[in-house]
Amino acid sequence: MEHQVYQQLLVPHSLDALEVSEARELEAHLETCAECRAELVALRDGAALLAYAAEPATPGPEVRARILESVRVKRTGDSPGAVLTGRVVPLKPRANWNVWTMGLRLAAGLAFLALLIGLVVLWRREVKLRQEIVQLDHQLNNQQHELARDRDMLARQREALALLNSPDAKRLELAGSQTAQNARGSFVYDQKTGKAVLLADGLPATPADKAYELWFIPKGHSPVPGRIFTVDSSGHALLPEQMPVDAMQNAVIAITLEPKRGSAVPTGAIYLSTPSS
Ligand SMILES: [Zn+2]
Repeated sequence: MEHQVYQQLLVPHSLDALEVSEARELEAHLETCAECRAELVALRDGAALLAYAAEPATPGPEVRARILESVRVKRTGDSPGAVLTGRVVPLKPRANWNVWTMGLRLAAGLAFLALLIGLVVLWRREVKLRQEIVQLDHQLNNQQHELARDRDMLARQREALALLNSPDAKRLELAGSQTAQNARGSFVYDQKTGKAVLLADGLPATPADKAYELWFIPKGHSPVPGRIFTVDSSGHALLPEQMPVDAMQNAVIAITLEPKRGSAVPTGAIYLSTPSS
């Protein structure tokens, strides 16, 4: 080959890019050609400069693997080779991860605790509310009962007042017996209609299994039972009554203590009575 042909091989040779056979031929020529030797030196300097001036390149996967392997061998003392491919290095759990996990668990625990406390509070509140409802219901019943009693009492008082003001009214006084010396009463009745009312005071409180019973005892006849009633601790009684026709003329009015449901004939002691004539 001529000098000019070899000259064209100088650039690839400076970059070590020639085939081995071409490189040998060029080396042979270089021993005989000072011009080519000088040009190759210049080219090699230039190639070195080019290498410095070149943009930094990212190594390919193979080069990268080789670099990492060499680093690993240096650091760990492992034997180079098969270890790199397929080796799985587990990631250590980070401290942050633990903090988050613990935080979440703590939050879940607190939420559950709050829920439990809330349930207990609600349950206790419901129990308390139910107790209050029962109490209020009881109070309401009592008040309604008292109201009904007051209304009844008011009606009796009005009736008694009307009777007392009636021009046809007749009043009989009742005196306490030996058994109830502090007791006294009035029996007022309308001589036309027989409408009557008993007003009593100072009677002993009625025992639980007993009741007072009113009797009409016409002269020469058996006692006729009237109403039964009870008195409270103050011993008052206001009892509306209907006078039997047979008792309208000079009958004795008497009060005895009888069994709770009353009696057909007097069995207990007399507490109050009009004087027998
Ligand atoms: Zn030459």
